[in-house]
Amino acid sequence: MKLICRGKVNEKHFIKALSMLSALEIPKELELYIIDDPKYCKEVIRPLPPSQKPIFRSFCNRERTSFSYSWGGREIVLIQIAPQNAFITKNLGAAAGLLAHELTHTILRRKGLDRHLAGCYEASYYSNFKLLHRLKLPRERLDELFNAVGAEALLALKDVYVNSEVLSMGLGDYLLEYYYHRLETLRYCPMPPFKDLRRALKSDAASAALRDALRFQLTLLPIYAPFKAYRHKKAKLLMRQVKKCYEQSVEDISSEFGDVQKLVLKEFSPSCTFHRKYFSLVFLKTFRLLI
Ligand SMILES: [Zn+2]
Repeated sequence: MKLICRGKVNEKHFIKALSMLSALEIPKELELYIIDDPKYCKEVIRPLPPSQKPIFRSFCNRERTSFSYSWGGREIVLIQIAPQNAFITKNLGAAAGLLAHELTHTILRRKGLDRHLAGCYEASYYSNFKLLHRLKLPRERLDELFNAVGAEALLALKDVYVNSEVLSMGLGDYLLEYYYHRLETLRYCPMPPFKDLRRALKSDAASAALRDALRFQLTLLPIYAPFKAYRHKKAKLLMRQVKKCYEQSVEDISSEFGDVQKLVLKEFSPSCTFHRKYFSLVFLKTFRLLI
């Protein structure tokens, strides 16, 4: 693996965090970038083909502080140090937790997880699309909305897999340390912008608004589902924080998405039957938010 640090990043700190992850089989060709300013993304983007540049650029912004990406034999993990995750520069356990999460994305993708999930998603395409079709919006807008819902649902499900895998590798304490501080830095729970969502449907901002709303609903799922049965004092505190976040928004529709959480807790498995149920439920709940 090649570690590339840019800006005022303390390389030694991250080398130490990586040494705590010997349980992971990190691919040799992986490029791990740790940067403290999105301007360093240029260096990563430059060798990519033109078709891939806009996708990578859209990931590389201050909101999305870390991600894992593959293209044409290149495996890239990028971690951006921003105010919301600056704690990883001080807290070794939390740094190891975030690295374990992103590296496991790469490992599972190589084992075919992303392809498998995308296949199951495609298989449930028509029934889900029919549902949104009932919104009677122009076809272009429907496509946009459909893709937004699908992308968020896929991201959240991948994260449930990744976090379950990290826990099964015995690295749960690090992951817990990361999420614990991540939620702590939020200080308050972000409120879903649902009230404006129905109105936003008619505007060009529709898919962005929908993605934000769904991200809020699904973002806690990859924490809640894998850690539910985890025995650690901090896990209990984390669960309390997650519940508090949900309760604050229950008034509107969050209770609806509680069903998605229940489904994942009860039926999580690698089978397409479960995946199809999961995607259909996310689309159904989203449809109910929009009518
Ligand atoms: Zn992830």
